[in-house]
Amino acid sequence: QHHVITPDMIDHIATKSFPPCMRQLNDVLRTTHHLKHGGRLTYGLFLKAAGLSLEDALHFWRSHFTKNMELDKFERQYAYGVRYNYGKEGKRTDYTPYSCLKIIMMSIGPGDAHGCPFKHCDTPVLKQRLMAYGIPTQALSEIMDLVSKSHYQIACQRYWEATHNATLETGINHPNQFFEESQKYIS
Ligand code: SF4
Repeated sequence: QHHVITPDMIDHIATKSFPPCMRQLNDVLRTTHHLKHGGRLTYGLFLKAAGLSLEDALHFWRSHFTKNMELDKFERQYAYGVRYNYGKEGKRTDYTPYSCLKIIMMSIGPGDAHGCPFKHCDTPVLKQRLMAYGIPTQALSEIMDLVSKSHYQIACQRYWEATHNATLETGINHPNQFFEESQKYIS
């Protein structure tokens, strides 16, 4: 089942259906109007696989980035990268979105917003954020316990279950799988 998502839906579904890694990227993009290279790649490929068309992707990234830069600069420096993710530039490969394992193994530098929050966030920051997301106390302590044992993907599964108030039969191994399971459940 392949759904279509449009730019106007993104903030809403990010809150309801995106895994924490992608919700973080959307939040940083929305508040700073910018993402560094690793974030543009990770989030761009995720959105493509989630059903955002190239046209809409260009519109989406342009509308955020041009809050901080001239349209001309966006077109010269960033539009290429958006088209590249869709296999329209460079080697013209239809790039696949990153799995959890790949995201968990990515190195994170200063100012980067990509990565897996369960792995890359400092414990107090992660805990604070999950509380702000409305995770109930019991689930929160289970998640933090899993994180302390480096079971990031199981922590993410528990997060899915707490936010959907349901049980997930399979573990989480891909951000797009997290999203698909959520959309299946919600619709
Ligand atoms: Fe994203 Fe996977 Fe980490 Fe969940 S476990 S936040 S889907 S990278």
